[in-house]
Amino acid sequence: MSLQVKDLNIVYKVGKGSIKAINGVDFELMKGDSLGVIGETGSGKTTIANAIMRSLPENAEFFGNIFFNNKDILRINLETYRREIRWKKISVIPQYSMNAFNPIKRVGEQLVKIMMENDSNIDISKASERIFYLFNQLNLPPEIYKKYPDELSGGQRQRVVIASALLLDPELVIADEPTTALDVINQARVVSLIKREIVDKRKTLIYITHDIAVVAGIAKKVMTLYAGEIMEFGDSRKIFKEPLHPYSKGLLASVPDIRLGKTKKLQYIPGDSPDLSKEIKGCPFAPRCPVAMDKCKVERPRLRYVDGRLVACHLMGGE
Ligand code: ATP
Ligand code: SF4
Ligand code: MG
Repeated sequence: MSLQVKDLNIVYKVGKGSIKAINGVDFELMKGDSLGVIGETGSGKTTIANAIMRSLPENAEFFGNIFFNNKDILRINLETYRREIRWKKISVIPQYSMNAFNPIKRVGEQLVKIMMENDSNIDISKASERIFYLFNQLNLPPEIYKKYPDELSGGQRQRVVIASALLLDPELVIADEPTTALDVINQARVVSLIKREIVDKRKTLIYITHDIAVVAGIAKKVMTLYAGEIMEFGDSRKIFKEPLHPYSKGLLASVPDIRLGKTKKLQYIPGDSPDLSKEIKGCPFAPRCPVAMDKCKVERPRLRYVDGRLVACHLMGGE
């Protein structure tokens, strides 16, 4: 598996204006990588996930490339993507998954259908064996198989969606805040299942979250995203130990507490994120950055290698 996102730009058209949600994002992942994507609300996390899943809304325009196993998946026919890639090679646990299922069909029937439609070698008994295995791992009672989606609690439905993303053992799984609707015990179960089924099996994971303790536990790499741009990207141990970008420093200010075993959400940084419908000059973080310089307001910092990771900040020397 290889994923190369190259100069990705995504614009949402709204009325006469447009929102520049993703602005020149570049990154690469290989088989076995696990990437934690963290960033404030509106920073573009779900937009990147939707681009990789080819499920951007109609008002989105995209530019750039996303190479998956050397094929530009932004350019292949949508039908081909659905037939050959979705579920089988790339799957998603969406941020809002409550409506992911057909209300008039039983849960088990829908999961079996996904499996049989996408893999001609699977019969109904193999399919249900896999489904019951995942149910068990996710603390879902077997009776769920025969229930209708509306008969499930929100947390159960979320876990069924997680099971569906893992059904066909895809090469890349994108989890977009997968534990938001769950209680603490089920959050821990889901995280350990994702770790076991994806990370430990050397598949590739993109894990979007506000929970830095989870990223610290699961992700080998971290990306901090702000206003649709990567601020810092690299080895998670390095970045958690010593974030270099002022935005990453702000977000990760509570990491020392995690080392003491406390669960922590991202830190709140004073000020508001920029209006993405307006042109941003210079560093997008400048109005909120405690160490901004004059240059920051006019010149956009490029991502540069600094101390074994990429950082977009004028404070950094680097190559
Ligand atoms: P959150 O943490 O709240 O899930 P996010 O990082 O996933 O946020 P996105 O949902 O990717 O952020 O949104 C990025 C930007 O694009 C935001 O400014 C958002 O308002 C805007 N946006 C998202 N979807 C649309 C849409 N369909 N039409 C117009 N603007 C949109
Ligand atoms: Fe702060 Fe300037 Fe670095 Fe932006 S480029 S994060 S404003 S110091
Ligand atoms: Mg989102």
